[in-house]
Amino acid sequence: MDFNRLDQIARQEGGISRRLFTSYLAALSSVPWVGLSAEDKGTRTSKFSNNPFTLGVASGDPDHEGMVLWTKLAPKPLEVNGGMPLDAFTEVTWEVGHDEGMSEIVQSGTALATPHLGHTIHVETQGLEPDRWYHYRFRVGDFASPVGRTRTMPADHVLPEKLRFAVTSCQNYEQGLYTAYEQMMADEPDLVFHLGDYIYEYAGNPNRIRTHVGPEIESLEQYRQRYNQYRTDSLLQRMHAHCPWWVTWDDHEFDNNCANDISEEQGIDRIAFLKRRAAAYQAYYEMMPLRASACPMGHDMKLYRSGKFGRLADFFVLDTRQYRTDQPNGDRNKPLNKVALDPANTMLGHQQRGWLQQSIVRSESQWNVLAQQVMMGMANRQTKENDEAIYSMDQWPGYANERNELVRFLKERNITNPMVLTGDIHSNWVNELRVNDLEPKGDPIAAEFVATSLSSGGNGEAKRSHHDLYLANNPGTKFYNAERGYILCDVTPERWISHYQVVDDVLMPGGKTTTRASFRVNAGDATVHST
Ligand code: FE
Ligand code: CA
Repeated sequence: MDFNRLDQIARQEGGISRRLFTSYLAALSSVPWVGLSAEDKGTRTSKFSNNPFTLGVASGDPDHEGMVLWTKLAPKPLEVNGGMPLDAFTEVTWEVGHDEGMSEIVQSGTALATPHLGHTIHVETQGLEPDRWYHYRFRVGDFASPVGRTRTMPADHVLPEKLRFAVTSCQNYEQGLYTAYEQMMADEPDLVFHLGDYIYEYAGNPNRIRTHVGPEIESLEQYRQRYNQYRTDSLLQRMHAHCPWWVTWDDHEFDNNCANDISEEQGIDRIAFLKRRAAAYQAYYEMMPLRASACPMGHDMKLYRSGKFGRLADFFVLDTRQYRTDQPNGDRNKPLNKVALDPANTMLGHQQRGWLQQSIVRSESQWNVLAQQVMMGMANRQTKENDEAIYSMDQWPGYANERNELVRFLKERNITNPMVLTGDIHSNWVNELRVNDLEPKGDPIAAEFVATSLSSGGNGEAKRSHHDLYLANNPGTKFYNAERGYILCDVTPERWISHYQVVDDVLMPGGKTTTRASFRVNAGDATVHST
């Protein structure tokens, strides 16, 4: 393998950083391209008989002067390597303009699509004007991508009047349609937060309304194909093209209920599991509009990061899967015993926790938002009145000591208006968070808005049989609902409103999305009010 030549190509053509290149090398062992002879490498392809932009465009991680613009060349998205020749290096032109017709181009450039990153493109724009919408597209040969829309954030020192964003998670392709994205587009959010379970790893089940291609995914090629299948959904594509997203993963981007290098199943070899994790992480990086700073190094990928919307909101996007200790007591719902309360249990890991604490104390924003995966409210999940109290060991209750210390930190350091956004659980929850949720005395420290699944689980229900028991047993819980949908948040310096948007049918096209309930939090007091 001629690393020097590859290095040269990478440097000359893409302006690719050393770090990115090094991570290419880490990834190479799983790329089929490595087996090709030296003469086959570096073939320039710009002629396509099929449109290579079948997977649309996306943007993400915006700041006050730019964002990541994403696309992928995949003329046949469900075929090996998306139908791209394994050795193709393809120059792709990107353009940023003021209008949808792209009549006035304000920035443009080229980037190289290479086999190392599955022919994906991640352009990090800079120097755009703050607080402004832009349009963008990609071109190669005779083909142009769909035109996407994105925006910069307000300048860091400015206090904006308002921000609107959507919160979504859990979009199992087999179990439901992405109908709710139609209403999300109509809601015109500035941002979307996707809090994980973007794909599911399971084998195809022919009895569903749509079927995953192939068996349970384990190799890089399989993860890539699965993402391609999900991204062929036109609603998902259009929502990505509608505004910038902040994404983070949960477990299913890799493997159900994974904890660091430990599988939920017994007897899985850790090295084999880490190899699978490297494939999963690489495919995730490739498919998401993430900055190069998130590019994986083998089985490690730094996904936690922060962003801001002027001085209105700081966002802390967390990774609660990669660094956690194994779920105590197994992964299921269990009593809060000594094992669950062991101070050695960690969800965030030492480094991420330190980063979060250091970053959040420096924030000068009106709202400080933790965008993360699993429920922080210490909710008793017993479903029958005479059972004992049980808590989810895969969620924050399994890591209760760290969770309580984190809430105590928010309180003692007087963090301004901490708010928590959560996915994973396939039901809607609104929780007031205290240092000890089990003894809810005094004012809440933070409010948590938990978003249901977009499609996972198929059609849900407004009131499950244990609805009243959940609310009675959990005084901090203000709302519980198991329909499908997402949350729409309207935030001003004075107050935060969360609208729970629910869709009445995800099994048939034409489902209607309406607002089931809305909740308000006033700045300075985390008490949740029904509106
Ligand atoms: Fe899920
Ligand atoms: Ca999950």
